[in-house]
Amino acid sequence: MIYDVAIIGSGIIGGSIFRELTKYNLNVVTLEKENDVAMGTSKANSAIVHSGYDPEPGTLMAKYNVEGNKMFDKLCKDLSVPFKRNGSLIIGFNEEDMKELDILYKRGLANKVEGIKMLNKEEVLEMEPNINPDIKAALFCPTGGIVGAYELTIALSENAIDNGGELRLNSKVVKITKDNHFKITLENGDIVESKFIVNAAGVHADSIHNLICNEAYKITPRKGEYFLLDKSQGSLVEKTIFQCPSELGKGVLVTPTVHGNLLVGPNAIDIDDKDSVSTESEGLNKIRETSLRTTNKINFRENIRNFAGLRAVADNPDFIVEEAKDVKGFVDVAGIKSPGLTSAPAIAVDVVKMMGQAGLKLNPKDNFKETREQIHFINLSQSEKAELIKKDNRYGRIICRCEYITEGEIVDSINRTLGARTIDGVKRRCRPGCGRCQGGFCGPRVQEIIARETGMNIEDVLLDKNNSYIIVGKTK
Ligand SMILES: Cc1cc2nc3c(=O)[nH]c(=O)nc-3n(C[C@H](O)[C@H](O)[C@H](O)COP(=O)(O)OP(=O)(O)OC[C@H]3O[C@@H](n4cnc5c(N)ncnc54)[C@H](O)[C@@H]3O)c2cc1C
Repeated sequence: MIYDVAIIGSGIIGGSIFRELTKYNLNVVTLEKENDVAMGTSKANSAIVHSGYDPEPGTLMAKYNVEGNKMFDKLCKDLSVPFKRNGSLIIGFNEEDMKELDILYKRGLANKVEGIKMLNKEEVLEMEPNINPDIKAALFCPTGGIVGAYELTIALSENAIDNGGELRLNSKVVKITKDNHFKITLENGDIVESKFIVNAAGVHADSIHNLICNEAYKITPRKGEYFLLDKSQGSLVEKTIFQCPSELGKGVLVTPTVHGNLLVGPNAIDIDDKDSVSTESEGLNKIRETSLRTTNKINFRENIRNFAGLRAVADNPDFIVEEAKDVKGFVDVAGIKSPGLTSAPAIAVDVVKMMGQAGLKLNPKDNFKETREQIHFINLSQSEKAELIKKDNRYGRIICRCEYITEGEIVDSINRTLGARTIDGVKRRCRPGCGRCQGGFCGPRVQEIIARETGMNIEDVLLDKNNSYIIVGKTK
């Protein structure tokens, strides 16, 4: 079969475009090199739905940021993904910061960010009493939000599959040729044919582009490291608190997560290795020091996890969202650094429109299913919980005691359309292992449940990426 569109990469960008395309009568396939979706940058970022004060007016980043932000309420509600508009504050300590805040305020106005305003010190401290009282003022953006970034990435692809899209995991693209249409060779030798290609390969988008097009841009991975703290710290601030941004990024933030933890980071370090997501004490120490200027009340002894993500920084300062100049039908969606997560839904709408103008036939489906259900047991009322347990007693067995995740939710995350096959896959779908013990107690139980539900041998159930075996042999 010749697909209408092949999307390369299933992060938030590929996933958003995948779902948008399945609103039309098209044959669409997504090719992802890893064994699950949301395995790249889309699983390791600040998960902030930015309001749009930061990008230069007139750029694609500004346009998609503000448009994308407005789409999150409906999108997350439709797909049962956690999202909260908690608002954000950018705080300033001195005259230099005040100048920067003024620039950001004017940019926010130019970008039409709703409700943006400057607050004086007293107003800020009333809003956020735990912030450093040495601040002078802050920029307040009520439309800022926090979201479950990997939950959304998974939900988008799952909903696209429910609407007829095809996802091929473990499908690394290694070669692309074109005669009448594209022939995409995968690492295992399979060939996938399509009329259009969307390149949404994140930090690897330049390599994918160069497989068929002349070199047009280069991507450098810019690492950002984080501390994730226990829920005991999660109510220290209610809003996302940024310090003033620099050339390298939006600055160190302190924010509650949508699940009630506290997130602190990131820094910004250009590196060579596009697969390195290690964290190092040097960077983390600097983040800790910087964040304590925002509030000295963070108890870093409550840190439960460190992680890092890679921004795809192209030598073009703006997002690259265009058909390649030299290869018709090849669409780059590249250099999607921050605010890429926020921008993704708006980018997807435009990319599909762009392909329509380039000849893709866009006949809307009349049976597109917009919604996707997922039970979050902890959010149910007592009576709803009781009713659910009566129907299925697996919802009465708590497997993850830190996050109160039931066996019912774990089984559902394995058996649903885009079901998890690894321990971290289950974790990203319904959170066992996200709590204080980080899976120390529930990990082996989740492994058993995956084996039982799928018929896999327990030794073959992986922690995360391919080859991440946990059980390697018998000790006795
Ligand atoms: C530290 C940090 C903080 C950030 N904070 C925010 C924020 O708060 N808010 C915000 O809006 N944005 C934020 N961003 C940006 C946002 O996370 C990214 O813009 C977004 O996740 C990029 O998504 P993507 O789909 O382009 O890339 P990815 O999620 O990396 O997806 C690319 C996919 O392509 C696959 N792939 C690569 N090569 C191949 C191949 N050869 N064959 C098949 N598949 C392939 C990869 O495996 C991967 O799954 C942040 C980024 C970082 C790093």
